[in-house]
Amino acid sequence: MTMTSTELSVHQLRAATGGYCYECSCGELYRLVSAAVECRKCRYYTDHGYCTEVYDIVTGTKVYESPVIANEREREVREAEYRRQAEAPFTLGDACPELAQITF
Ligand SMILES: [Zn+2]
Repeated sequence: MTMTSTELSVHQLRAATGGYCYECSCGELYRLVSAAVECRKCRYYTDHGYCTEVYDIVTGTKVYESPVIANEREREVREAEYRRQAEAPFTLGDACPELAQITF
């Protein structure tokens, strides 16, 4: 196994060497993504009560994200964009580009 420049603790390095390279939300390491997603310890040790994301500790990449969390993040982005548009100053040019030339 070739290690990348990702900083790993001694525990993580030993686990990854043994094939346990998928880390769930509570920090437990598993050999399979599916096992990490279904981590029982996450029920007790995470704020959401279930595993929300799994990382490959060797590459540092996210290999799983809970659909609930992904939807929540998308909703927050849409809400922020709506708020930005709603709070932007309104000008006559927004409604009709020709009116943008008129000054008072
Ligand atoms: Zn867990």
